[in-house]
Amino acid sequence: MCKICKGDYDKDTTELYCMECTALTTIPDTLVNLTTLHCHNCTNLTSIPDTFVHLTILRVTKCTTLTSIPDTFVNLTMLSCDCTDLTTIPDTFVNLTELYADRYTSLTTIPDTFVHLTKLICNGCTSLTTIPDTFVHLKKLWCMGCISLTCIPSTLVNLRTLVCSGCPYLPQCDPDKYEERMERFNEAAWIIQEKFWYPIWGKRRQIKEGLKLLHKID
Ligand SMILES: [Zn+2]
Repeated sequence: MCKICKGDYDKDTTELYCMECTALTTIPDTLVNLTTLHCHNCTNLTSIPDTFVHLTILRVTKCTTLTSIPDTFVNLTMLSCDCTDLTTIPDTFVNLTELYADRYTSLTTIPDTFVHLTKLICNGCTSLTTIPDTFVHLKKLWCMGCISLTCIPSTLVNLRTLVCSGCPYLPQCDPDKYEERMERFNEAAWIIQEKFWYPIWGKRRQIKEGLKLLHKID
């Protein structure tokens, strides 16, 4: 049981953490002062009220029955939607600086309005085809196993870390084009996996251990 199920909240609540509660189906719309909402592995959460306009941090990881996030959350700076099946991410979240979307397998595009993003973690997004060229402030991009990704725009001039193993259609992953990619992202830290990564997520620790730091310029 989480705080919502226990009734341990009131209209002045600003932060709410609901972890692994299968009884939770929605959040009371009276919590209009919420700035931080973390729901993790609440597998029966189907909706979030659109009245939480002060939210800056929203985490809905593994909330697998949630299909949408209200587009009224325009103050969000951090959104974490790992392992969800959202139909889309609203393009109104223009203040986002961090987006976490690991294994969001139905994600095909990320809105190009997220121009303030500095961190994008989207490993295992097997339907993702592009990274918008408007993400000019992006410093960190993890896109391992994005098997449909064909291009990382050269406009991402602030990129410092790019982890892109297991992206077979990404030319930058080709060791033969190493010099070319270093030229494009001359300050990026490149991490390439030793063995080709397949979109079958086993134990994350094992995957991390399989990584090899090829080169780093700081
Ligand atoms: Zn609960």
